[in-house]
Amino acid sequence: MTMESDSQMSQAVAGAQGQEQESPKSPERVFIREGFAWDRQKAYLFDIDGTLLRSRDRVHFDCFAHSVKHVMGHELNFEGVSVHGSTDTAILRDAFRASNIDDAEWKPQLEPILALMRQTVTEQRDSLQPFLMPGVEAVLRHLKDAGALLGLATGNLEVIGWLKIEAVGLKQWFRFGGFSDQFDIRAEMIAHAAKLARRIAGHDATVCVVGDTPADISAAKANSLPTIAVATGHSSFDELTEHSPEVCTTTLAELLRVTPSPAKSET
Ligand SMILES: [Mg+2]
Repeated sequence: MTMESDSQMSQAVAGAQGQEQESPKSPERVFIREGFAWDRQKAYLFDIDGTLLRSRDRVHFDCFAHSVKHVMGHELNFEGVSVHGSTDTAILRDAFRASNIDDAEWKPQLEPILALMRQTVTEQRDSLQPFLMPGVEAVLRHLKDAGALLGLATGNLEVIGWLKIEAVGLKQWFRFGGFSDQFDIRAEMIAHAAKLARRIAGHDATVCVVGDTPADISAAKANSLPTIAVATGHSSFDELTEHSPEVCTTTLAELLRVTPSPAKSET
């Protein structure tokens, strides 16, 4: 699906406030705000879906309706519920509201529903079919080599997020993460993840969010954190750019490609 938006990308226009670079033979684009050293931050909080990986399976998506049906007997309506950039707990809340189910009815059932979601994905872990986004491992290695702390900041429930990371072979890179179990509001999840990052990397450590949606950017801004926005999810380069991230790139591979060595030796 991301390929559609990639192919629609227009030619790069020189950025007004930074350097935007265009590859001669591809629609790849990178914008880096002047003065922002994207690979010199102390800690990074990576979103999962659309940023590190995409899923070919429906294991995670289907576990919402399955769990609600099993715990409450209700069919959930997901029409009009925004999924990309949301959190699992907010998706549930929005689906209950779209289904005209009263808060008083579902809120007492939330914990059993979340527990069944975790259990369902755990049982179906062998059916997870994630695939890596371009340049992910090279960027993780590049940042790790620079001494950065790498964490997750995702709308996934914790168990589900780690299962996906493990399934795609990235577990070794991440030590901690922020998840949506306790935070349906993304900015609050990011605040928690940033706190964890600074607990490990030092209280004045610079923390940078890496994500694929406007929601990642606004949640980072709410915490006064910079964002590397990557157009490998459902938002295009131009859509992301409208939200003024410090970095915007069509892929992490391209961001690394335009970065002076030693990055180039990593690709
Ligand atoms: Mg995402």
